[in-house]
Amino acid sequence: MSHVFPRHTKSIPPRATRGDGCYLIDETGKRYFDGSGGAAVSCLGHSDPDVIAALQDQAGKLAFAHTGFFTSEPAEDLADLLIEHAPGALDRVYFVSGGSEAMESALKLARQYYLEIGEPQRRHVIARRQSYHGNTLGVLAVGGNMWRREPFSPLLMDVSHISPCYEYRGRAEGESAFDYGQRVANELEAEILRLGPDSVMAFVAEPVVGATAGAVPPVEGYFKRVREICDQYGVLLILDEVMCGMGRTGTLFACEQDGIAPDITAIAKGLGAGYQPIGAMLCTDKIYSAIENGSGFFQHGHTYIGHPVAAAAAHAVVTKLTGGGMAARAMDMGGRLQAALEDRFGQHPHIGDIRGRGLFRGLELVQNRETKAPFAPELKLHANVKAAAFQAGLICYPMGGTVDGIQGDHVLLAPPFILSDNQIGEVVDKLSGAIDTVLAGVPA
Ligand code: PMP
Repeated sequence: MSHVFPRHTKSIPPRATRGDGCYLIDETGKRYFDGSGGAAVSCLGHSDPDVIAALQDQAGKLAFAHTGFFTSEPAEDLADLLIEHAPGALDRVYFVSGGSEAMESALKLARQYYLEIGEPQRRHVIARRQSYHGNTLGVLAVGGNMWRREPFSPLLMDVSHISPCYEYRGRAEGESAFDYGQRVANELEAEILRLGPDSVMAFVAEPVVGATAGAVPPVEGYFKRVREICDQYGVLLILDEVMCGMGRTGTLFACEQDGIAPDITAIAKGLGAGYQPIGAMLCTDKIYSAIENGSGFFQHGHTYIGHPVAAAAAHAVVTKLTGGGMAARAMDMGGRLQAALEDRFGQHPHIGDIRGRGLFRGLELVQNRETKAPFAPELKLHANVKAAAFQAGLICYPMGGTVDGIQGDHVLLAPPFILSDNQIGEVVDKLSGAIDTVLAGVPA
């Protein structure tokens, strides 16, 4: 028996021993197609020679130098590369070790920014009911995933939650997608006015929602209206691109496709592509210079900021995503995956929606396609689909999110960008087999 504290104590998973392109291999030699990149992490697959060479080379030169004493070349190079490709006025990069840390840093930076510019009364955060921003207590409070929040609710700060932009469930009959987007974006203005415009610090959102409801993209115009409202009331826009960023949706930053840029953004997952744990927060020069010209010190920090080996690996990753054309490939292969999913599930009686952007795709299971009625939560369909797919050698990321009392069974697909057309076929075949097996066991 191992002394590792596992995620699920009652069902210990197999031991992974090797990665090979899009596949993970367990100790029995069984191969699993990584159809979700873990959780939208492994964008370059599991055996990329360039990333491995970059991190090995850096480990041999300098593994660690604490940022209380030093900067390092890998961290500087990576920051420059990210800013070269970042949208809008993003200008500075603060490195951390993962997504929750990146989002915590974003919240604390927003707060400190307002202290530096003499607006200490700004403290309210507004987020959305369908969202996940990490598991540490600060960002757990910001997320709208009730199941994750519930046990820890007495420890969480107060955050306002407005409607998500979730067209499949939210758009009224006869309402255009654009009008729907404006309506839900305008909830932000209403909440700012309710709280008092001078008291609101930030609005937080995922451009394409990930871990609460498989790959839900916003409708056209939604984020433009959000940006307008934030600008009007001096509220910082924090975009959480931890899951949807780093080429996953076909552009390095997902928000590029919405024609807007944030004041602060968080990235992780695909940044290290699973080769190293690394995340980052990017902010505009306006925010950075408020600190530079004010206290001169961001009152935050973690031991592994700007870790040289992690930064060297991430530099190799981002080089492949940008100059190497891998983000563009995610756009192209994403279109093919969507077409293959529509082909297979477009008429399926229990698949209500097939959506997403790039290689970030989601399916929503419903009991009835016409009424969109979900299956009973007790059936735990999402968990059963995950298990059946895993058994068949496919890793996918199903989840059961509840928004406004509606329980949805979602399946998220986020495969490595290197996947081939044949492998798209493998994913669709195995997923379809898993869904049919599970549905066959559901009482009529
Ligand atoms: N934000 C989003 C949008 C995420 O999907 C996640 C992880 N699923 C996080 C933050 C937290 O990242 P991490 O697990 O690396 O702390």
